[in-house]
Amino acid sequence: MNKKPPQQRMLLQKTLHQKTLGIIGGMSWESTESYYRLINEGVKAELGNLHSADLLINSLDFAPIGELQAKGEWAQMGAILANSGKRLQAAGAQGLLIATNTMHKVADEVQAATGLPIIHIADATATAINAQRLTKIGLLGTQFTMTQDFYKQRLTDSGLQVMIPEEDARAEVHRIIYEELCQGQLLDSSREYYKRVIEQLVDIGCEGVILGCTEIGLLITQADSPIPVFDTTAIHAAAAVHFLLDHVLHE
Ligand code: GLU
Repeated sequence: MNKKPPQQRMLLQKTLHQKTLGIIGGMSWESTESYYRLINEGVKAELGNLHSADLLINSLDFAPIGELQAKGEWAQMGAILANSGKRLQAAGAQGLLIATNTMHKVADEVQAATGLPIIHIADATATAINAQRLTKIGLLGTQFTMTQDFYKQRLTDSGLQVMIPEEDARAEVHRIIYEELCQGQLLDSSREYYKRVIEQLVDIGCEGVILGCTEIGLLITQADSPIPVFDTTAIHAAAAVHFLLDHVLHE
């Protein structure tokens, strides 16, 4: 006999219907840890009690990928991430999340190799910004993310006007990501530097700023910025919760 109160019985049933999400992580593991916590917190906020997210995580070794990035070997990285996606699919993932902005440069390869839906970080971010009716938006991230089209184009296509820091600032923003944030170092001097770069973005007319690298939210919060910040890790994690539970909450 099932003696659980009806409310709890209902939630237990709902959990059975949660989808399974595969996370391609480790780039860096510092931010994959944030994703893990944020997605579980989001599921708990929706379902309560002991509920947590149905996740599979393939945490890759970032060092060889970092070297390939520096050499521009994107086809090789596409193959590595596609293989990761296939491993997650074989383990039961029904959708995939690539837990880094930069590596969305090979999102199409992962999608083609698996046929699974991919929760795209730039699309989720554009939706969050458009919901606030902002248009001119600053973008902070790696050099790849700030300067190449794979990311910015999706924002532009959604109606946003994307602005990036000038060359010297881009180089330092990029250096801090790889030499500090991805290695677990959070320095006050770097926080101050990012704050100055955000001020420069305000000066050229930005109404909001995208923290377009999944580790920046470890260093910078809303309190550090005079304009709204859009933390891509938090936005992407919220989109993941939606993927896991949408059909459950609206059935
Ligand atoms: N996690 C970072 C990002 O969101 C940078 C590391 C990487 O190259 O993946 O872009």
